[in-house]
Amino acid sequence: MPAFEEAIGCSGFSRRSFFRLGATALASVPILGESHFALAERNVHFAPSNKGIHIDANENPLGPCEAARKAIAEIIPRSGRYLLDVQDDFASTFARQEGLSPDYVTPYAGSSTPLHYAVLAFTGNSKPLVIADPGYEAPVWAAKVSGAPVIKVPLADPMGAASHDIRAMVAAASNPGVIYICNPNNPTGTCTSRAEMEYAVAHAPKGAILLIDEAYIHLSDATPSLDFVKDGKDVIVLRTFSKLYGMAGLRMGMAIGRPDLLEKIGALGGLDAVPVTAVAAAKASLMDAELAPARKKLIGEIRTETLAWLKGEGFHCTPSESNCFMLDVRRPGKEVQAAMAAREVYVGRMWPVWPTQLRVTVGTREEMAAFRSAFSAVMAASTAGVTPLPDARGVDGRRMARLS
Ligand code: PLP
Repeated sequence: MPAFEEAIGCSGFSRRSFFRLGATALASVPILGESHFALAERNVHFAPSNKGIHIDANENPLGPCEAARKAIAEIIPRSGRYLLDVQDDFASTFARQEGLSPDYVTPYAGSSTPLHYAVLAFTGNSKPLVIADPGYEAPVWAAKVSGAPVIKVPLADPMGAASHDIRAMVAAASNPGVIYICNPNNPTGTCTSRAEMEYAVAHAPKGAILLIDEAYIHLSDATPSLDFVKDGKDVIVLRTFSKLYGMAGLRMGMAIGRPDLLEKIGALGGLDAVPVTAVAAAKASLMDAELAPARKKLIGEIRTETLAWLKGEGFHCTPSESNCFMLDVRRPGKEVQAAMAAREVYVGRMWPVWPTQLRVTVGTREEMAAFRSAFSAVMAASTAGVTPLPDARGVDGRRMARLS
């Protein structure tokens, strides 16, 4: 596989299609995030966002909550001004809720920006990036910019818990710049236990920054890591409003860490004011105490139904606690992805290390019903013409899943 596709972690899209969406950006050192990775695949399948079922970008089809929509409408007449005080008020509100000092919180327009700059700030030629595999690709792209070697550590127990192998990650380099832990992980939706997070904090080599990406934390039962920040550790936590809060297009996120660490990230860029609509919507979302538990419950129920159905059909999935999971189709994933796209159901990408697995986002009940019916048809047609590959256990996964 060419280095380009290898680096982005996608085997199923062409260089040309990626350039259509962002050649100039790529050449001029872009901040790459989920929107780019998913869009690259959408361009391959000519799938505009208003056509078909999109369960390919870990978005939240529910969008912003009612209170957030109202807050956006209310702030629009005032949006001829910069309103940096509104942004400060947001940071103070979040800090108060979490028992942090406000100078430990820096708002950004999404979490892709601080993720990118954190990797730039703390990695380099002699300061590697350590990341799980499969893991979220954005830090790898940032490491290409900083010139840092990338050490990919396979997930532990890939056909079981599929969680980060924290001990191996911590031991992977003597001088890592950043150890990136995505909890829950994108793309598997699997969590790292509190005990392992504590191990990472206690045993990371001196000078390494633990970059803990909590983009999906609200969807899971995982313990948040903000207390490590409170305790003054070399830890930066990233949060976004793109997932549970349904604000991917509005752009709101934050970096949470010791002020000296946040300064190093901010010095590189991205500290422009966040659009006031996004700030107002984010604050209203934080103030809605019912929102996170209600959405966690709903998305969790749809995920559980979908995983149970797939298991009943004999397919192995990662034990996700998030709004995405990996589905082992036991044949080249890109063939299934293309066949699904032909039915206007757009599922997510593959990772080179797991070429027979596709990432599926948990959509609405209606979207997942459309997914089930398209997937049944595609697999029936595919099984007729293709010899299924054995799964990573080297046995017939369908039989195993049925027996278990
Ligand atoms: N981190 C992870 C693990 C993600 O999956 C994403 C988006 O999918 C992001 C960060 C960035 O999200 P955003 O820039 O929309 O806040």
